Amino acid sequence: MKNLPLHYQILIALIFGTVLGFIFNPGEFSLNNISLTLSHSESGFQVIEEDVKKVRTEYQFKDREELLVRFPEFEKILAKGEPKKPVTVEVTERLIHFIDSAKKYELSYSRKVNRKTILTTYSAPNGEELVKTYPRWDAEYKAHGTGVSYNAMAISKWLGDLFLRLLKMVTIPLIVTSLVTGIASLGNAARFGKMFSRTLLYYLSTSLLAISTGIFFVNLIRPGIGADLPGGTGSLSTGQDSVSSIFLDMADRLIPTNIIYSLGEGEFLSIISFSMLVGIFIILVGGKHAKLLTDFFQAGFEVMMRMTMFIISLAPIGVFAFMFYAVSSQGIEIFKILGWYMITVFLALLAHALIILPCILKFVARRSPIEFARAMSPALMTAFSTASSNGTLPLTITCVEEKAEVSNEVSSFVLPLGATINMDGTALYEAVAVLFIAQAYSGVVMPLEQQVLVAITALLASIGAAGIPHAGLVMMAIVLQAVGLPLEAQGVIIAVDRILDMCRTSVNVWSDACGSAVIERFR
Ligand code: ASP
Repeated sequence: MKNLPLHYQILIALIFGTVLGFIFNPGEFSLNNISLTLSHSESGFQVIEEDVKKVRTEYQFKDREELLVRFPEFEKILAKGEPKKPVTVEVTERLIHFIDSAKKYELSYSRKVNRKTILTTYSAPNGEELVKTYPRWDAEYKAHGTGVSYNAMAISKWLGDLFLRLLKMVTIPLIVTSLVTGIASLGNAARFGKMFSRTLLYYLSTSLLAISTGIFFVNLIRPGIGADLPGGTGSLSTGQDSVSSIFLDMADRLIPTNIIYSLGEGEFLSIISFSMLVGIFIILVGGKHAKLLTDFFQAGFEVMMRMTMFIISLAPIGVFAFMFYAVSSQGIEIFKILGWYMITVFLALLAHALIILPCILKFVARRSPIEFARAMSPALMTAFSTASSNGTLPLTITCVEEKAEVSNEVSSFVLPLGATINMDGTALYEAVAVLFIAQAYSGVVMPLEQQVLVAITALLASIGAAGIPHAGLVMMAIVLQAVGLPLEAQGVIIAVDRILDMCRTSVNVWSDACGSAVIERFR
């Protein structure tokens, strides 16, 4: 195994982690019956939920909208008017998964209501808290939430996180030393300006191409038409951000008031803009001071690169752990509900990554797409398993420089900035997801002007999204808002977001890497 090239080692780890993850996946859980009793009074509605263990929970709602969001099962009854006497309905729930995600314990279950599936996700800080609120899942929690497969899942998550911590440890020093060295070695501020504008042009055009591809596929396949979209009441993102506030916030972050704080907090945009300014002013100052500082940053960069190479040799372990975690913790049931939607996102991402970007590589950058992809494969597979462009950045920089032979001047600038603002996969995903939701809600394809609005806001959302897992899902709120769709609609796609996130993150990293080849050609 040791003598095998790194990308094969990572590939084996990826496959192995996936297979073992499937074996440990607890699959579909059991069913539970509950009864819901609705009564109406002057002060509003009351629902009493009683589960198999005769545990009763009471809910109060001021109006019918509020009630229906939480308990859509009463839609039919309320259509005939407010009930005079209490009415009871029996509901069957199916537990989908228990997962331990980001120090939260999460439980998802679905209910069938008039042939629609309603998905509910509930989270608590730990398993005990969770079953206190949902005592009816107690037995399942003991069986699946604390058993062997759960422990294997928790250990693999921990191991994967350790690998991600190692990568994060080198990310900031690597960005700073690499950017300052890269810009200072350009030797002339005008060259920097040229590179900057070309890079932005590349980011913008590929993101727009990605969005168009997504829109094309979602209109072709129409996954939302006729879909029984579960009106989830799950834990929703609270993103109330409007487009303008995102931009004002970005402008603020470009000018850090305390660079030490920004370094400590890992605020990418602040760090990038400050490092670029340091590089530019080193050129402007010139002379012996410039030489001293350039040598200093160059030395730091060499050391950080070596450290990164060492961490990268551990990538197979990290990739294995992440794949195992991702596959073993996913509820398989949900894939059946959202199958077409997922296929649409996959196909559109594939078309962008395997047709459009390779054409740009071939005809604009004049590089062989296959060789370039081979050089980038460790970074792409790591992006896939970690779902984080920021986390993958050290690998992306190393692969681009050491294997794809792009100069440090270009990569040091194109890649960190790209990891933050150039997200083709995320932009495409935002467009597909929102149009899918729109199709499912209205039952028809969205009119063209609305689709253009979705495209523009999806672009902005992808620029604003951070390079961390699930960032795209949070940013989707602004796209939904722009076209007046309910934020609740996101509740249902949360369940499959991890796997789609893995795919879109690989496309994000692939586009950044291709960008560095394009800019290198015109250097
Ligand atoms: N996880 C993605 C990334 O790191 C962002 C997203 O959620 O779309 O690039």
